[in-house]
Order: sequence, then C-alpha cells, then structure tokens
Amino acid sequence: MAKMLVVRTRLNHDGTEASVTFDCGTFAPITWKILPETRMSVRFSEDISANFALLAALPFALRLGVPLHVKGDICRELLGNVENLIRFRALQNPSRASRIEVNCSGTYTRRTTPLNTEQPYLIALSGGIDSTYALATNWDNENKHLRRNLVAGLTIRGFDFPLGDSPGFEKMVERITTLSLHHRIEPIFIETNWKSIAQHADVHWGTYHIIALAALLYLFERQFGGAIIASDFSYRQDQKMLQWGSNSIANAMLSSSIFRIEARGADVGRTQKVRRLCSSGLFDNLMVCWEGPRDGKNCGRCTKCLRAMLAAYSQKCQLPGPFPRAPTVADALSVSLDGDLARLFTSDVLEHWSRQDGLLIRSVLLWRLRLASLSDALRETSDHCRELSDFLGEPSDQTRLEEVLSRAHSGTAPDRERLKWTIDHKPAELSNAREDLSRASRQVMRLEASLDVMKKSASWRVTSFLRRIGKFLGLRK
Ligand SMILES: [Zn+2]
Repeated sequence: MAKMLVVRTRLNHDGTEASVTFDCGTFAPITWKILPETRMSVRFSEDISANFALLAALPFALRLGVPLHVKGDICRELLGNVENLIRFRALQNPSRASRIEVNCSGTYTRRTTPLNTEQPYLIALSGGIDSTYALATNWDNENKHLRRNLVAGLTIRGFDFPLGDSPGFEKMVERITTLSLHHRIEPIFIETNWKSIAQHADVHWGTYHIIALAALLYLFERQFGGAIIASDFSYRQDQKMLQWGSNSIANAMLSSSIFRIEARGADVGRTQKVRRLCSSGLFDNLMVCWEGPRDGKNCGRCTKCLRAMLAAYSQKCQLPGPFPRAPTVADALSVSLDGDLARLFTSDVLEHWSRQDGLLIRSVLLWRLRLASLSDALRETSDHCRELSDFLGEPSDQTRLEEVLSRAHSGTAPDRERLKWTIDHKPAELSNAREDLSRASRQVMRLEASLDVMKKSASWRVTSFLRRIGKFLGLRK
C-alpha cells in the first residue's frame, strides 16, 4: 500500500472532461464529463485550481489512513475547512476515517468578496424531494437573505443514477429539464465514475457522497459564485445523524474563499418538504426511486418509494401522483425500519401526520416503530441482566436470554408475515397483541427501574427482589 496518496489533475482540450489520477496506480483515474444533454454552454475552465482534486481524493486517503498530496494549488480557506472536516470524520466515523495530513504544491488566498446576491449560483438537482424543495424555496419571501441567483441545475449520472446510457436516463433528463425550465434555470448533466472507483476502494458512499458531490461542484468554481446543496435531514434530526455524510456540521466545511457551498432545507423534515411540493404542483414530477429497475419511473416497491408514498399519503397529497399506486397497509407493514435513518424518516411521517382517515396505516407504522424501540430496549436490558447475573454470582442462562431477545425482534420476515395475517384476519388478536406489547413495555420499564435500584443498594431485600426478576427472565435455573 502507498505510504502517501499523490494525485494530479488533468483537463481535456475543449474543457468537457476533467480527471484526477493517482500516482500509486492502485486506483483508476476519476473522470467527470459534461454530457451532450446539457443545453447551457458551459465548460471546465483551464484556470481551475486543484480544489476539486483535493475533495475527490480525500475520501480515498481517509479510507487508507495515509497522507494526501495534491499536485496543484488549493485555496487556503478550503484547506483549513478540510482539516476540520478530517477531524470531524475521524470522531464520527473512526472505523472509516483516520486523522491524516493534507498537502499541496501551493496555496492561494483571495479576499472573500462580500456576498453579492447577483453572483450566479448553481444547484445540485437529483429530482428527489430534498433538492426539489431546496430549489422551490430559493425564492420564498422568508428566505430573502438566503436567496441566491440560481441560474443552473446540475444533475449527475454515476451517483444514484447508474453509469452508461439507458432509457431511464433519458426520462430523467426530461424530468430535470422540465423542472429546471419551470424555475428558469438551465440544466447541466455530468457523468462521473467517482462512485464506482470508490466502491472498488471500499470507500463508504453514505459517509463520503457529499464530499464527492462538492468535488464535482468545484469544477465550476470559475463560472459560479457557489452552489446550493440539499440537506438530507432537519437540524433536529442531524443530532442523531452526524455519522451520515451530509449533515449541517460537515456541510459547512466545504466552502473556499471564492466558491461557497451552501446547504438548504434543514429547517424542516422530509415530510414537510413533501407537503410543500404537493402544494406547489411539483409533486407529480418527483423522482425518488434509486433501487427499482432504473427505468426513469418510481417503482413503488423500494424503500425510498415506500417512504415517499407514505409521507405523501400522510400529507393528503393527490396520489398516486408520480407513483404507480397509493400506499396500503401492506406497505406500512413492509417498509424497512432497520437502522436510525429508516426509523427517523418514519417518525417524521408520524409526527407530521395530517389526515383524519388512514388510521390503520398510521397505527401499523406507530406500532412497528414502538416494537422496534422495544426490541432495542430489550437488547439493552440484556446487558443489564448480565450485570445483574454477575452481581448475584450465578452464571447467566444464555440460551433463555437469546430466546427472549429473538422474540422481541420485530424486523424479521416471519414476524412481519404473522403481523400482516393477524391484521387481515383477527382484529381481536390484534388488540390482544397490542395489550401484550404494552405489558411487555411495562415489564421492560419495571426491569430497568429494578436494575437501577440494584445498582444503588446491596441489601438482602433488593437482592431477593432481583432474584425473582432473574427467575422470570430465565437467568437462573
Ligand atoms: Zn423505487
């Protein structure tokens, strides 16, 4: 493995293609091409600095844990921001990022000019909920100090949308062109292999996609004063999602003194964004599906489609809209709740639920979310149980404990199937199951409270009480 990652930049003669090459030869060159679907007359300018190369190569160096040297000039302000970003990532994602040094051939400073709202800006546009919201709200009255002179929207083939020609991409071009012209901005289409090179290098997409996006935007640092990117989460949700690549802290570390990268839309969650898009007639043009057959339509089956459909349903949007159908109880039963991100979006839908009907869909989501939390609580409690068992000086019955915990997992397919069947056929059993669930919740709370007491007192009364709980959980034979 190389002891240092050295990278160089290259532009082709007509300014339609840029690349970054790695001296070590371990990775293929990263390329960016302006696609012919671009209506605007735009080129990568010759006097571009190496800022884009720094950002494009940074995730690779962080992944390898080796210093990065960029052959070219870098803006000092961006270098400072990147140093902070490296510290931030090393804290939030220690398994995916190390603290590394970054150097370059030369640095430059340019006094930051006062922000002129007439400077042309571009916006990264995927056609999804977040970026469409960021675009639509740029001209809102309450955003008058955040409003930018947006003149172009940039869409990428090779990130969420796969590389290569496909009928799906043609449809995507149509959608984005319609959206752009509606807002009087010009669409730019770029193809890059960054993601595919990164995947070969085991660079984690969820952690680094925003840096890769910033690298691409810097290719236009001479033509534009800056770029708008869409926030994925609200400021409140960010508190739980700092390990995710795009968040309010990390996104603020991507600007240089001549090119600003500004995130928009963190004032609300995704469900409120959907409501806004429905009320402004932009809902029908949304493209949220990245896991379906990539035919340029929303498949209505993948996680992203299901989440968006449920959010739209909760906001009384006119459905099916851009989806093949309206969501059903079965969708509420099958939408993934694995991981913080999935649960956060589902909580957001429930928090902003604004319709009177559809109670079964709402209840199923609520119930599943609670089951998932209960499962977590039980898993956490198992650690307390082990501590308790150690305290009592007896070996814990691992098999029994595993049984209790595996039953609590709500996300497994057999449980979902059983739940679905119960809802369809046995309303009485559903109500019993709800009671069971709330009883189980109370038990967990009691158990946790008891364990807390145990930690504070060693008297025989407490010990005896805890032994009974241990017996109940099968920790003792
Ligand atoms: Zn889909």
